[in-house]
Amino acid sequence: MKVLLFGREGKVGSVLMASLAAAGHDVAGVEAGEPVDATGFDAAVDFTTPSAVRGNAVAALSAGVPCVIGTTGLTEEGLAGLDGLARDQRVACFVAANFALGAVLMMRFAAEAARSFPKAEIIELHSDTKLDAPSGTAKATAALMGGEVPVHSVRLPGLVAHQEVILGGLGETLTIRHDTTSREAFVPGVLLALDRVRGLPPGLTVGLDALL
Ligand code: NAP
Repeated sequence: MKVLLFGREGKVGSVLMASLAAAGHDVAGVEAGEPVDATGFDAAVDFTTPSAVRGNAVAALSAGVPCVIGTTGLTEEGLAGLDGLARDQRVACFVAANFALGAVLMMRFAAEAARSFPKAEIIELHSDTKLDAPSGTAKATAALMGGEVPVHSVRLPGLVAHQEVILGGLGETLTIRHDTTSREAFVPGVLLALDRVRGLPPGLTVGLDALL
């Protein structure tokens, strides 16, 4: 596929540039401030910043190019806007807060465990360069678990992306933890999304779970 990658030089983007090409895609990367013409691409992928992602997605969707978005921090209003534009253009816009398979399983297990424990809290830990807090994964996990689930955010150098869900009951706790130790963890999920995005219905699809 001919893929337009927003965020070419970012921590995730630079891994994707190499990995998508190795998987046989023809990848053109865009960095901040560069002109964008999405015409002729089969799909766009965005791993940029909360302030850049909406403009990039609008540029791609307006050219009729389906999007795969990994950037976190999009507001409900921002997502609704992209949904409307994608529907108008009759293309799909796929958004996932976490492209790592283990993280998707962690969210599923946490949702299941929440049905049996009265209280839970989430600790999410990320690199100090991450711009948004709480993380998109923590917000998605809390939503899946239902009720009030407090989220604590840690930002430190040396971390990649980690999350602990601690559930407490009478005389016991259950901890479910996922660690991303390298950004290669996101590659299989992005490749899967690229493979499937053109077959998705027009508009927004959220979460890797929808593709598994
Ligand atoms: P990063 O290292 O800061 O990379 C972001 C890159 O985007 C930078 O190279 C930045 O360039 C570039 N950029 C900024 N504005 C741009 C624009 N308008 N067009 C094109 N490129 C632009 O961040 P990261 O760690 O790679 O993470 C990127 C995003 O993905 C974050 O929102 C993060 O939370 C999210 N993320 C999601 C997942 C997932 O599985 N969904 C996994 C990891 C990270 P400058 O430095 O020049 O501004």
